[in-house]
Amino acid sequence: AAKTAGRGRHAWFDATMERELISRNAIEAGLREGIPAGQFVPYYEPQVDLTSGAIIGFEVLARWEHPTRGIIPPDSFIPVAEECGLIADMSVSVMRRAFTEARDWDPSITLSVNISPAQLKDPWLAQKVVKLLVETGYPANRLEIEITESSLFQNLSLAQSIVGSLKNQGIRLALDDFGTGYSSLAHLRALPFDRIKIDKSFVTAMNKDPESMAIVDAISKLGESLNLPITAEGIEDQAIYDSLRKMGLHKGQGWHFGKPMTVAAARRLLAEKGLLPSARAVVEEPLQ
Ligand code: C2E
Ligand code: MG
Ligand code: MG
Ligand code: MG
Repeated sequence: AAKTAGRGRHAWFDATMERELISRNAIEAGLREGIPAGQFVPYYEPQVDLTSGAIIGFEVLARWEHPTRGIIPPDSFIPVAEECGLIADMSVSVMRRAFTEARDWDPSITLSVNISPAQLKDPWLAQKVVKLLVETGYPANRLEIEITESSLFQNLSLAQSIVGSLKNQGIRLALDDFGTGYSSLAHLRALPFDRIKIDKSFVTAMNKDPESMAIVDAISKLGESLNLPITAEGIEDQAIYDSLRKMGLHKGQGWHFGKPMTVAAARRLLAEKGLLPSARAVVEEPLQ
């Protein structure tokens, strides 16, 4: 089956083609089969300290390593996984693998994991995450969880209790895609966020579009007055990097620093910077 991977690989990045070629049912069937088979894997997008340029962590982004269709991006399967109740299993599988792969990296390196709205309705979410941390030996204080604004609408008191349990373990909490949802400001008070992530749509456009620039600047000032550090996503070039640095932003990610990459590429990057300690990290362990 893997023989066809070369031909299909690039076509599958095209969302329109995907919709035509693969039905929801096929995705659902693929999820049911592919999750236990370990086909859902973490890719790693570098996050840097904008002042020093140093790598300080990675955002974990799920990819489907489809046996015949190549690498499928999350927008193609996450909505289906949410709808058919498979998002938790997918997420646990990706997290287990990421925690295992990253546990021996330098202690300064953090992981940011995305949690979807459907998962914030699961009263066992915090227990599941803690169990994974214990199982893999990955330290809670090197984990940040990203949630989007829409997650908070559904059941705020449950979300608050889940988040409370996660924070009690030392896990940090980021508000993802800030500026794109509804009632952003109210949500900032509803949950104890440690960080705001400015949505990439504002960041990528900021040097061409004065309104985007004004929004990034306003969010940056909001973060300052609320004492919440900011991460900018979507830093695509040096000019955006320079503008953000001038504004005093703390942390960022984007194609300028690196696209989401395989664990092998992430390890190479860390090794170059001396952030991949000792021979321990070289030992490969079976994941399934
Ligand atoms: P997100 O959390 O906002 O992640 C950032 C997205 O921006 C990623 O898309 C990343 O590849 C892309 N990106 C990074 N740098 C740049 C840049 O410089 N320019 C541009 N134009 N884009 C950039 P990706 O990997 O396709 O993920 C899409 C979304 O899927 C994520 O958005 C996140 O909401 C969701 N997602 C990914 N993995 C998971 C997961 O394991 N669980 C859940 N629940 N959601 C996930
Ligand atoms: Mg995110
Ligand atoms: Mg985001
Ligand atoms: Mg986004």
